Amino acid sequence: MIRIPYLDLKAVNAEVQAKLDQAYARVLDSGWFILGREVRAFEEAFAAYVGVKHCVGVGNGLEALHLILRAYGIGAGDEVIVPSNTYIATWLAVTYAGARPIPVEPDPRTYNLDPARIEMALTERTRALLPVHLYGQPAAVEPIMAIADRHDLVVIEDAAQAHGARYQGHMCGSLGHAAGFSFYPGKNLGALGDAGAVTTNDDVLAEAVRSLRNYGSQKKYENERLGFNSRLDELQAAFLSVKLPYLEQWNRHRQAIADRYTEIFSKEPGLIVPYVAERSSHVWHIYPLRCTRRDALQAYLAREGIETLIHYPHPPHRSEAYAFSGYPEGAFPLAEEIAETELSLPISPVMSLNDAEVVAQAVIGFLKTG
Ligand SMILES: *Cc1c(COP(=O)(O)O)cnc(C)c1O
Repeated sequence: MIRIPYLDLKAVNAEVQAKLDQAYARVLDSGWFILGREVRAFEEAFAAYVGVKHCVGVGNGLEALHLILRAYGIGAGDEVIVPSNTYIATWLAVTYAGARPIPVEPDPRTYNLDPARIEMALTERTRALLPVHLYGQPAAVEPIMAIADRHDLVVIEDAAQAHGARYQGHMCGSLGHAAGFSFYPGKNLGALGDAGAVTTNDDVLAEAVRSLRNYGSQKKYENERLGFNSRLDELQAAFLSVKLPYLEQWNRHRQAIADRYTEIFSKEPGLIVPYVAERSSHVWHIYPLRCTRRDALQAYLAREGIETLIHYPHPPHRSEAYAFSGYPEGAFPLAEEIAETELSLPISPVMSLNDAEVVAQAVIGFLKTG
């Protein structure tokens, strides 16, 4: 029987294994593991890639967002606009900082924060807008920035799924006032463990995050603020420097798979294929197909040897963690509908187009059963 995994990380890393081995040997040989030359080199390379002045390596994507919020002084009594449909980390960053996440429903076509719904959610306590470039597609940043300008708010991008995605020619991570990236192993640019980064053109913010990630200190034993320990380590930075030059080609391969899927599915009335907004590029961290008989489709594909995932089975407001917020079922119907109908098909830099064809034909085979 065929077996098509959702994502074969071993195969992804095997493409660059010799270089990863060299990077490991170099760091081991240096005897220096925290905040050194490797982190600086990756920060410079990633800042140049994204097209911003500063990149600050941190422990993971959640911490990247959390430290940005802290650095802007956002906390108790403040509100931050977040998408109702996102990975829970977006909300948790706001909660960690002591502020309140205020959910806003998505544009039903792009699944990203709907600018038309933001202004009615603003109050005198709103301090920031936190759009997510969900699945790898840039959020509608131009109207979001216009709202932020009108109301004197900061815009923090959650770019954890959007390494290399462009909006009107500009890279995600350079579009708002600051951005948080995750290099979790399965992301489009993934480390071999946890890792993250903050990107920004704001000198003051970059300095504050540099301090916050390292006990509130820039100079050893001089602590200027109440900081955290959330550093990108030398080893992960060295691995990321190996993989960054491959990101564009890996994203192009994801695009080719997504194009094949969409071409095959677009005439099928039982499916909703992902929509890509004009003047945006999608980097397909996830290929989100939608089908009302989603659970049956997933079970059918599993029987065919095809592994799929759901992003995400519960919107944050319906998680136990946020039960204290008191949002009933139906509070955010679009987020709930996406959670009930979304199915993520296999996609990766190492998946063959032939396997994509097999997956797509299996989906068509399922539709004929209904
Ligand atoms: C992965 C992810 C995060 C969190 O990143 P970690 O590195 O796992 O902490 C945040 N937001 C979104 C949208 C993500 O997909």
